[in-house]
Amino acid sequence: MTLDGQSTSVSPLFTPPANWPVAGEYDLVVAGAGPGGFAAAIAAARAGVRVAIVDQAASPGGTATHSNCPHIMGVAYDGRQIVGGIADQLLRRLSQAGQARMQKGVGDFEPEPLDRREITRDAVASVNGLNLELSRMLEENGVEQWFYTRIIGATTENHRVTALAVDPAEGPALLKGKFFVDATGDAHLAWRAGARVRVGRPDEVMTKTLIFDLDGAAEFDRVRVSQRFEQLHKEGKVPLAVQDRFMGFRCLAPGKIHVNYTATVGNALDSRELTRMDTALRRQVEAGVAWFKSEFPEFKNACLAHVPDTIGLRAGRSAVGRETITQQDIDDNTPVAEPVGLGLRRYGDHGIQRFAAAWRKPVSGLRPIPWRTLIAGDFINLGLAGRTISCETKMITCIRYIAQCLATGQAAGSGVALALADNSTLPELDYSRLASHLKANGAILQVPDQR
Ligand SMILES: Cc1cc2nc3c(=O)[nH]c(=O)nc-3n(C[C@H](O)[C@H](O)[C@H](O)COP(=O)(O)OP(=O)(O)OC[C@H]3O[C@@H](n4cnc5c(N)ncnc54)[C@H](O)[C@@H]3O)c2cc1C
Repeated sequence: MTLDGQSTSVSPLFTPPANWPVAGEYDLVVAGAGPGGFAAAIAAARAGVRVAIVDQAASPGGTATHSNCPHIMGVAYDGRQIVGGIADQLLRRLSQAGQARMQKGVGDFEPEPLDRREITRDAVASVNGLNLELSRMLEENGVEQWFYTRIIGATTENHRVTALAVDPAEGPALLKGKFFVDATGDAHLAWRAGARVRVGRPDEVMTKTLIFDLDGAAEFDRVRVSQRFEQLHKEGKVPLAVQDRFMGFRCLAPGKIHVNYTATVGNALDSRELTRMDTALRRQVEAGVAWFKSEFPEFKNACLAHVPDTIGLRAGRSAVGRETITQQDIDDNTPVAEPVGLGLRRYGDHGIQRFAAAWRKPVSGLRPIPWRTLIAGDFINLGLAGRTISCETKMITCIRYIAQCLATGQAAGSGVALALADNSTLPELDYSRLASHLKANGAILQVPDQR
């Protein structure tokens, strides 16, 4: 079967040796602890499910923390909150801890803490605050945490995933489960289990970026910096021609600016390519800091404060689900029968030639995310969350922001909890029960009335 660029549908890619120990047995094993996996684990654990979460990184947050993207977008649209539930609770907890603020206009923060009001705009968190809060919530909800643990394969039987083959520090082992959620960003579990996956073409998977922070830019004015950046671009003086707009914002720490400037193109499903891109991006950071210092008075005395360990990957591979978000759906805004959260009608950002990809169309508004995009097509116990859900690669902006990943995670974890309680499977789950459960737990499933 050919989808987008390439796709595969094969038997598991790896069979673990028979003598590998079983290191744990759970009701649900969540692969990946980014926003999608985090919310899946919390939702299921709160419903009484015995959950383990597995990630190769040292701590939770995925791209948001390890690739320095603590700007929580997609939580509000047109002055209305569109994602609730776990995302809402997380933001209010962060705000109470002084680790998140709601944005105001293009470059400042609302003076009022967001824990005391409706969330009507995107929020900015601190990376460290986000990391700690995610970790606290996992612990409070009794989720067993397997960090520093790489998933290298999966065992399967009768359309079920039965175990993850993992490589923790103590040596290779199996983690068995009744259900699994793939929240690895690039469908690493689905692919290793032999499920069908979709690999985006180079022009669909957007640029890769190392976001860096500059310190010592006390006089930062985002409008002024953006105007000057655009002028310099018109004059051909921006070293990276692909960046035709300034993408940066004020961090919570005074004088610190978060700069989304570097960009490269390549295959994120290949370690040597990742290494090449990583090196190129770090050199762009070095040159970029010098360029910003010389071209912008605001940054004259700035210094590099933070560069993350891991380059940010926006899209790559996703799982093929029971249903798929397609360009046709988004263009035509077709009705969604079984919504589990709200996504955006927007696509074509971070193009590889310039910010707006050549195939971008000016659609706007919101569109619900269908439940069956969260169920892997080939398995009955494999849920999907975050940017791994079934979506044509070009459409990933509809579902990839952190708030949408939290929403799909909450839905996937809730679906697993209900399927376990009913002794059924994900495709068999009665959607009306899932919808009631999600609403009772604060999720927003339908487009709010337009003002
Ligand atoms: C440069 C950049 C800027 C962005 N800016 C914003 C922004 O401003 N606002 C916004 O809302 N969104 C932004 N995003 C998008 C958003 O951050 C991501 O789409 C979102 O974090 C994806 O969440 P996820 O849970 O699906 O996956 P991820 O956050 O990618 O998490 C996947 C997790 O799976 C783990 N994993 C993968 N493979 C394995 C394996 N084999 N074994 C063990 N663990 C594994 C990874 O270590 C990772 O922790 C940005 C993304 C990028 C790349």
